[in-house]
Amino acid sequence: MEPASQKESDQLSSSSSDGEQPSSCGSRSQFDRERHVAFLEMIYQLLPYQYQWQEINRITLAHFAISGLRLLGALDRVDKDQVSDWILSLQAHPRNKADVNNGEFYGFHGSRSSQFPPDDNGVLTHNGSNLASTYCALSILKTVGYNLANIDRITVLTSMRNLQQHDGSFMPIHFGAETDLRFVYCAAAICFMLEDWSGMDRQKAKEYILNCKSFDGGFGLTPGSESHGGGTYCAVASLRLMGFLEDDVLSKDVSSSIINVSLLLNWCLQRQAADGGFQGRANKPSDTCYAFWIGAVLRILGGYKFLDREALRGFLLTCQSQYGGFSKWPGEFPDLYHSFYGYTAFSLLEEPGLNPLCAKLGITEFSALGI
Ligand SMILES: [Zn+2]
Repeated sequence: MEPASQKESDQLSSSSSDGEQPSSCGSRSQFDRERHVAFLEMIYQLLPYQYQWQEINRITLAHFAISGLRLLGALDRVDKDQVSDWILSLQAHPRNKADVNNGEFYGFHGSRSSQFPPDDNGVLTHNGSNLASTYCALSILKTVGYNLANIDRITVLTSMRNLQQHDGSFMPIHFGAETDLRFVYCAAAICFMLEDWSGMDRQKAKEYILNCKSFDGGFGLTPGSESHGGGTYCAVASLRLMGFLEDDVLSKDVSSSIINVSLLLNWCLQRQAADGGFQGRANKPSDTCYAFWIGAVLRILGGYKFLDREALRGFLLTCQSQYGGFSKWPGEFPDLYHSFYGYTAFSLLEEPGLNPLCAKLGITEFSALGI
């Protein structure tokens, strides 16, 4: 799955593609935790200008940096109160209680630039809050130890129901845009974190997910589309969060599962390429982030033990930068998105010094538990 931030990776990479081999390849024998902490701390303190055009997704970038530092066991580099105050300031609020049902979504904005200030009458002139930003906001708040019971969850969840479509899918924002499994996942994760499922019709969401199932056992992002690592993660993790899929289902009676677990396991394992890395789809090159998207599916199913861990570790280390961070492909410069998913991948591999990952939420187990 390649969100907007992937373009950043390409942009950073292209600055080095002058015919010479980029020189960002670092140590290929070990996970260099200290450099990764320095890399994320630098980004936490001052976002490099190459990320300027992603200002509208600043909360997503903050999630990668702050949740990444927690994975690395370095949350002490973060001012937790400052972070939670900033996140809470990005929440959208209705003018009055009746407006909760006016069709708008009252979640979290991606950044200050998408949050226009109120006019002289206190009227908010714009509401661009969306599901992805809200997932990131809640993930960060849990990561810094903020008690989500203090959030006005009724407003978030009541208004979120307006985003669910007749086919069970979700729009990311109240004024439209594409609907696909990514936003079903965000909605499920939001309900799970707020411990309240009133924000969605779970049965309809389940039907939509099952309609995205492909002949080969994987899931596409939309019904009828090709199986894809990101889509498969969103499907499986959502079903797990919603309670339709047991944890470690492979150790149980798979015949009673609502998905074809054996076929899905085969599809996932076939995505590990000869170089040890994972590809997002058949016949695509290995890419750091799919070590998480597909690795996390295997972890949820109870099938992680079947992949070649040493080969995966070897591939990921070829994507490790000597300056800290991970790139999409071997030998390129690192970007924040692939760095974060590199850390999640190493956590799944149980690298010493990394905190354990809650595969279904994509944050550490400690964060998921609120500790
Ligand atoms: Zn990628």
